[in-house]
Parts: sequence; C-alpha cells; structure tokens
Amino acid sequence: MRIYSVILLAGVTVLSACSGYKYHQSNRVYTKQAKELVKPLKSVPDPYVVQGISIQEEPVGTVNFDLRKPNYVIIHHTAQGSCTETLDFFTKKATKVSSHYLVCKDGTVSQLLNDYFRSWHAGVSYWGGLTDLNSASIGIEIDNNGFEPFTVLQMSSLLELLKNLKQKYNIPTANFIGHSDIAPGRKVDPNVWFPWKDLAMNGFGHWYSDTTGVTVPEGFDTNMALRAIGYDMKNPGSVYDTFKRKYLQDSSNNKQFDSAAIKVLYQLYTNPF
Ligand SMILES: [Zn+2]
Repeated sequence: MRIYSVILLAGVTVLSACSGYKYHQSNRVYTKQAKELVKPLKSVPDPYVVQGISIQEEPVGTVNFDLRKPNYVIIHHTAQGSCTETLDFFTKKATKVSSHYLVCKDGTVSQLLNDYFRSWHAGVSYWGGLTDLNSASIGIEIDNNGFEPFTVLQMSSLLELLKNLKQKYNIPTANFIGHSDIAPGRKVDPNVWFPWKDLAMNGFGHWYSDTTGVTVPEGFDTNMALRAIGYDMKNPGSVYDTFKRKYLQDSSNNKQFDSAAIKVLYQLYTNPF
C-alpha cells in the first residue's frame, strides 16, 4: 500500500493549538460551524404539523438509523498555482467554495472537511436526474493550473484515496465523474490531460471497449445515450465538447459530434468496462 500523507482533522486540531499556525482562525470557525450543524440532529424530532395535519402529539424517535453516506465522487482541477494558494482560498468565507480533499503535486493529500458534511464544490449541476450533487458527493480537488499534465505522485495518491472512499461508502463504479460531466459548458475540469482510462481500469468510472471494426447501427440515438449515461442534454453541443475532452482527449470545443465520437459513445453505452 502506498504511503501518502493525509492531514486528518485530529492533526489539524493539534496544529491549531500553536498560536502562530496559519489556519488557527479558520479551524476555530470550522469547529463552531460543525457544532451548530450537529446540534439539531441530537434530539428526538418534535411533534409537528404539516399543512394543518397533526402528525403526533408526543415525540417518537425510531431506534434504527445511521448517517447518510456520499454516493458520488466528483473530481476537479484547482485552476490555481499551488496547494498553498488553494488552501488559503478554501479557508476564506468570501470565496464560498471548498472540497473534501486536495491532492498536491508531491502526492500529499489534505482532508479539509469531514466526508459527512456538504462541501461547496459542484455548484449548479446535473447528473442522471440529480440536481444537488453537493449533497450526494465527495469533492476532490487536484492541484493543477488547468493546462498541464497531472503528476505520477498525484495519481497514485488519488487512486489510493478513491479506493478507500469506494470501499467505505460502497460507491458504484459509474459514480466517479468529473466536474465538467455535471456542469458541461460551465466547467472544463479536470482538464484534457486527466487519465480517465487509468481510473476506469482501477474501477473508478467506465471506459469504452475497442472501437475497431465496430459498426454503429442506423438509428442509434446519440442524445438518448448521453442522457442515459447521466448528462444534462439541455445544451447538447456543450455535452459533445465535454464528452470528447474526456474520452477522445479532444479539446477543440467545436460542439460537433463526429463518427469517431459516435463510435466511442456506442461502445461506452453498449459495452463499457
Ligand atoms: Zn471544479
């Protein structure tokens, strides 16, 4: 098993005890917010009235429950210059963005938020009928300016992290997707260098089988297949661009879907791995 460093919340607490620590103040805000969010979960629900219908007179709490779990992982690139820049960005209220994890170029992984909390990383998004991906997912940012390859150390740490998350929360293979998948036309991350095929070979997301000699049957409905995979087909041209960037390493952004792309889609839809 690869060794990579994870800054766990406990570690952050120890560090924040030192008064000169850079993130001392934001860690205090984190703890205060976490306490506020958890407080109403601790007591048995009050009897209440919905639209004039009385539900019950006395509180009744069931005894069979646990925590809701994330079911998706959304992968991003930071589009920033360094991990320090991103950590500073995610610890300022004004930016209103965050992620659960940040993977640095040297393979270091920082955890910034407990997996059970809702990070603000997806924004306006859609996937397979879901419109609140932040509530259902874990967000992973990878330190990358948007125009460069990802490092070997980054990718091996990412794979280890994904393996842990997949096991812990039983996340389906198809639910490891990119920010651009859920926000086509608005987001392009992770960039064209991101090795989606390597991820699929490790069980995170799907890839297509060989297209050699494949004949796409007449009448194959590309937009229907893209919708079935999960894409929001409100603006098909933006989805075509996102799809080609991910599966054909084509960032021409011409909003066209040529015969090569149709073959790939057909294989992905009918014969994925
Ligand atoms: Zn993103």
